[in-house]
Amino acid sequence: MRRIGLLGGMSWESTAEYYRLLNEIAAKRLGGLHSADLIVRSVDFAEIEEMQAGGEWERAGARLAAEAATLSDAGAEVIVLATNTMHKVAGPLEETYGDRFLHLGDTTAAAVGAAGVGRVGLLGTGFTMSQPFYADRLRGHGLEVTVPAQRDQDTVHRIIYEELCLGTFLDSSRQAYLAVIDRLVADGCEGVILGCTEIELLLPMETYAGVPLFPTTRLHCEAAVEMALSPRDQRCVAAHSSARIA
Ligand code: GLU
Repeated sequence: MRRIGLLGGMSWESTAEYYRLLNEIAAKRLGGLHSADLIVRSVDFAEIEEMQAGGEWERAGARLAAEAATLSDAGAEVIVLATNTMHKVAGPLEETYGDRFLHLGDTTAAAVGAAGVGRVGLLGTGFTMSQPFYADRLRGHGLEVTVPAQRDQDTVHRIIYEELCLGTFLDSSRQAYLAVIDRLVADGCEGVILGCTEIELLLPMETYAGVPLFPTTRLHCEAAVEMALSPRDQRCVAAHSSARIA
């Protein structure tokens, strides 16, 4: 198995889930006492959040590029950025690592497409829902993307930063999220992306309101293990082939 480099801490609540899932999936694939060969670089999320709130995206991107380099220098062959939001600054990582960088938008789009869903709702941080970087990546795979109304976006965003990233999972927030999903489905969405790596901790279900939910952390982990287990000359094709819809 090739070494996976996990760039996380954004927040550590979801990175812990990445760590658990990567090992669980690797063990299932390889059997016995096998676990994932991986390196975790976990940053202090307060520093990143400050840059997000201050609009210092270039600085945040440079910071993540430097952290990714430490993973690569330590032998990571598959680079995983464990947050949807920070894919806003994934460009330099894609340039540096090429197919070794497993873009979360691509792994998500592959699963949505494979499920036969054409019109999909997107939940995530305010950055992910309101800015084009993530939705456009999905649209590049032929998907029609719908985000919640502004008021619902505010609720979803607030709960992520004030609760989920702090390990707080309230039933009232679960109900609020389900109500947002209800409205997306009423609006014609055939599936909903849980496009923030903590949301699936609050909503650990595969379907709701008759449509599939797409858990981005789990999908990212499955693709990462797939890539790590593919023969070196085929690994990029294996992990990206379904992700890259022509
Ligand atoms: N983990 C979250 C995401 O997937 C939000 C935290 C962050 O802003 O990085 O977008």
